[in-house]
Amino acid sequence: MDRFQLYIDGKFEPGAASFESIDPATGKPWAMMPEARAADVERAVEAAHRAFLAPEWAGLTATARGKLLMRLADLVQQAAPRLAQIETRDTGKIIRETSAQIAYVADYYRYYAGLADKIEGAHLPIDKPDMEVWLRREPVGVVAAIVPWNSQLFLSAVKIGPALAAGCTLVVKASEDGPAPLLEFARLVHEAGFPPGVVNIITGFGATCGQVLTTHPKVAHIAFTGGVETARHVVRGSAENLARTSLELGGKSPFIVFADADLESAANAQVAAIFAATGQSCVAGSRLLVEESVKAVLLARLKQKAEAVRMGAPDDMATEVGPLCTARQRDRIVRVVAESLACGARLIAGGTPDADTGQFYPPTILDCSDAPQAPCLTEELFGPVLSVLGFKDEEHALTLANETRYGLASGVFTQNLTRAHRMIRGIRAGVVWVNTYRAVSPMAPFGGHGLSGFGREGGLAAALDYTTVKTVWLRTSDSPIPDPFVMR
Ligand code: NAD
Repeated sequence: MDRFQLYIDGKFEPGAASFESIDPATGKPWAMMPEARAADVERAVEAAHRAFLAPEWAGLTATARGKLLMRLADLVQQAAPRLAQIETRDTGKIIRETSAQIAYVADYYRYYAGLADKIEGAHLPIDKPDMEVWLRREPVGVVAAIVPWNSQLFLSAVKIGPALAAGCTLVVKASEDGPAPLLEFARLVHEAGFPPGVVNIITGFGATCGQVLTTHPKVAHIAFTGGVETARHVVRGSAENLARTSLELGGKSPFIVFADADLESAANAQVAAIFAATGQSCVAGSRLLVEESVKAVLLARLKQKAEAVRMGAPDDMATEVGPLCTARQRDRIVRVVAESLACGARLIAGGTPDADTGQFYPPTILDCSDAPQAPCLTEELFGPVLSVLGFKDEEHALTLANETRYGLASGVFTQNLTRAHRMIRGIRAGVVWVNTYRAVSPMAPFGGHGLSGFGREGGLAAALDYTTVKTVWLRTSDSPIPDPFVMR
């Protein structure tokens, strides 16, 4: 079996314990992963803290930091095929997706490499004649970056890139499910030449690793991506040291199709919105809201497309939907779909997993028109399951769209420009895609509100989030400061 290591203070090491990682396509172990426990986490945070203060990092110019990031970007690009294979093996994410996504991850590092020396302070036109006042943007300190299993290289890049651009140091915690790509990425960090301790990469379990990390007094900012329940633990943990937090959580994103939309485009976008990444995507368009007059037509197209999807080995370039990352995840989907059917949801496609083939679950569509209480309408399934509701008019569409405690992404398909604008205004979500879905870019901030979390990743705003403002007052007068207790 392959073996991976932790990366702490510029060195590769085995960790306090180890655990098997399962190949989701076969359900069998394929590699041994190092498990960080409290003492490993402690060393990683201490290393990051030392590196944060050390002249090898703190003394670098922002331009020099940018050059290191640029070198890392180039190394990611070169290693993309190998990283993609490892991610596919360890998480079941299909090779055509991991290949494309990791190549794009290099662009995120490039973007933040270029941004490093453009994080500017400010000079204030202060209301006092003998003072100069300016603001310095300084790095906040040690960042704990915690990611879930899906797209670990991408979800960590949107934290590592801006945090390093700002001058922070990090302890990155890979998910215990599918940590191999991030542990492998550590080799590139090493090769890029970052001083020891600037980026530490560990993995381990929630209670024995994640929690120790998020409650560590030397962690200044916790950048968390994951589920809502874990986020509550993280926020409680952060209270102890009043560490800053940014939370990228789940969603139950509405995908809204009006009768005037280009239905073929909408159907293709909906297929990508829910079945890409085998539905294990925070922005999955998992609630289709469709105008009643075209519901039957759209559902017929979606059924045909869902049934034609090629489900298979994740390392086959022809595969369109692979296995779920964990058996736990598949079992949960099986349960929620069964409960939704019991509530009166109607099965349009899929719904019956093949018990013998790893952790596969077929592309599934549930018409919930007669099942408003179906749990698939409210619970984030994180799998290839689309729940469908019809709507009467624009107002009804908006009411249904906002009937969720999440607020991450949304899609609107319409040819009507003024209606598109009204929907953009009315939908409560961090992202609105109009006549498209899933587009992302290093330049575009991304994040949600409500149970989808807070803070933004991507763009300049993300780098500023890893800084703190220092206000400097400098007296320019040469006249002596008078004794304050002598009355004049
Ligand atoms: P999860 O919350 O179970 O785990 C996420 C990470 O938190 C893992 O590394 C885990 O080890 C760690 N963790 C667990 N307990 C912890 C604790 N007590 N303290 C600190 N860390 C702890 O999430 P998951 O099930 O792996 O991932 C799926 C979730 O992630 C979904 O809800 C999905 O929507 C969300 N997600 C969000 C985004 C986004 O950008 N908004 C992107 C991808 C995934």
